[in-house]
Amino acid sequence: MNAKDSPRIKHAIEVATKAHEGQLRKTGEPYIVHPLAVKKILEEWGMDEDTIIAGILHDTVEDTDLTLDDIKNDFGETVAFLVDGVTKLSVARNGMRDIDTYLPATKDNFLRLMIALGDDIRVLIIKLADRLHNLRTLSALPPDKQKKVAKETLEVFAPLADRLNMGRLRVELADLSFKYVDPKRYNELKELIEKSNKSAEKSLNKIKEEVSIALKKEKIDFEISGRVKSVYSLHKKLAKHNQNINEIYDLTALRIIVNDITDCYLTLGIIHSLYTPMNGRIKDYIAMPKQNGYQSLHTTVITKDKHIVEFQIRTKEMHEYAERGLAASFYYNEQKLTENYKKGKIEHLPTNLLWITELQTTAARLREGKKVDLKKLKLNLFADKIFVYTPKGDIIDLPYGALPLDFAYRLHSEIGDHVVGVKINGKMSNLNKKLEQGDVVEILTSKNQTPKSSWLDKIFTPHARAKLLRALKLPGHHDDAEPKKRRKPRKV
Ligand code: MN
Repeated sequence: MNAKDSPRIKHAIEVATKAHEGQLRKTGEPYIVHPLAVKKILEEWGMDEDTIIAGILHDTVEDTDLTLDDIKNDFGETVAFLVDGVTKLSVARNGMRDIDTYLPATKDNFLRLMIALGDDIRVLIIKLADRLHNLRTLSALPPDKQKKVAKETLEVFAPLADRLNMGRLRVELADLSFKYVDPKRYNELKELIEKSNKSAEKSLNKIKEEVSIALKKEKIDFEISGRVKSVYSLHKKLAKHNQNINEIYDLTALRIIVNDITDCYLTLGIIHSLYTPMNGRIKDYIAMPKQNGYQSLHTTVITKDKHIVEFQIRTKEMHEYAERGLAASFYYNEQKLTENYKKGKIEHLPTNLLWITELQTTAARLREGKKVDLKKLKLNLFADKIFVYTPKGDIIDLPYGALPLDFAYRLHSEIGDHVVGVKINGKMSNLNKKLEQGDVVEILTSKNQTPKSSWLDKIFTPHARAKLLRALKLPGHHDDAEPKKRRKPRKV
C-alpha cells in the first residue's frame, strides 16, 4: 500500500487482499501481488480512480467469494460495472460463451473481442494492464501455456494496443510475446539490433551534434534522442522485405521533440538542408495522421558520409499521445469530467479514435437485441486494414482491397511466384477474389509455375507488385528508396 493512496483505494486493497487470501500465483507468490501490479500499471498510465479500483478488484468476482453486489455496495456502480466487464471478457475469451448469446455467428475472434469490450473502453484498458503483467511473469507457466498466451497476445492484444495508439505498450507486449513464440529468432534479431546500434553510435552522435547546432542557430527549442526499433517490428518488416536487412532504413532513428507544429516543419526543413532526403521517404503524419491518431513527421536522409538515418519529428503532445495513446486521452479529459466520461465515454476523442464511440453504440444495440449491420461495423473498425488467417492460424494484416496474390507475396516471394490457385475458407476460389476480414486463405503452389505478367492486374499492394516485377525482370521496378549513381550508402 502506498501512503498517497486515497482511502477508497486503500479500502479496495484491503478487500482484495482478504478475498484472495490463501491463493497463490503460478510464480508461488501470494495472488494479491498480481492485482497490485495491475494497479501500478494503471497508475502509470494515468487512469482515473474508479479504473484503478476496478483493476485491484478485477479477479475477485471470477476467482473468489466476493460478488458484484458486494463491490457495488462498497465502491459504487461504476467500479462494479468495470469489474463485471473484465469478468465477462475473460469468460468471453474462454470459448466466447457469453457473447454467443447475442452476437451473430462470426468466426472473427478479434471482432468478437472488440464487441465484448464495447460497453466501456476502460474495461479494455484494465484488460491490457492485466495482460501486460501476466506476460511479464509468463516464465512461471508451463511452456505450452506460455506459447498459447504469447501467441494470443501477438494476434489480439498487441494489435489492439496499436489501434489505441498505445505505442509503448504495443512494443512491450509484442517483444515479450515474441520471445516466447520464437526464442531463437528473437535472440538473433535482438543481437542484430544491438550490433547495428553499436556500430552506428559514433556516426549517430556526430549527426546529433550537427543537427543540434543547426537547430540552436534557428533558436528552436528541442530534445533529440535515439529511437531503437523493437525486435518484433523488425521481424515483421524483414518478412515484408524478403529478409533483406539492407532494405530496412529505420533500424535506428533519431527522434526530435519540439514545442509546436511550426517548429516541426522548420526542423524538417533544416534537416533537409543538412542532408539529402531519400525519394519517397518523407511522411507527413501531422497533416495526415495514421488511422490510430499517430502524428509525426518522418524523413529518411543520406548524410555526407553516406549514412542513412531516419528522423521522427513531433511535438510533446504528439509524443505523449504516441506513447500512451488512449490512456493519454483519458488523462487529458480528466479535468472535464462529464456524465459521459464517468460512463467511460470520452467526449473529446481524437477524430481517429471515433471508432471507439461507434463500437460502444453497436455493443449497446446488440445487448438490447437490436439489429446491427456487422459488415458496416467491420468496415469502419478496420477501414484501412483486414486481418486474414493462414490455415495454421497465423494472422496476416493486409490493406482493405487486397487479393490472394498480395497475401501470397506477403508470406514469401517463393510462394507468390509459384501460385496455381487459392482456397478461401476451405473452398476453391480465384485470384480476383477480394479478401475479407477473417478469411482463412490457403495458397496452392506448384514448383513448375512461373510468375505471369497477367498477374499485375490481380495485385493490389505495392509490395506484391514490386516483388512480381522483380520476378518478371521487367523494367519499372526499382527501389525508389535507393539513391541512384551513388556509392551504396551504409545504414546508421
Ligand atoms: Mn488478472
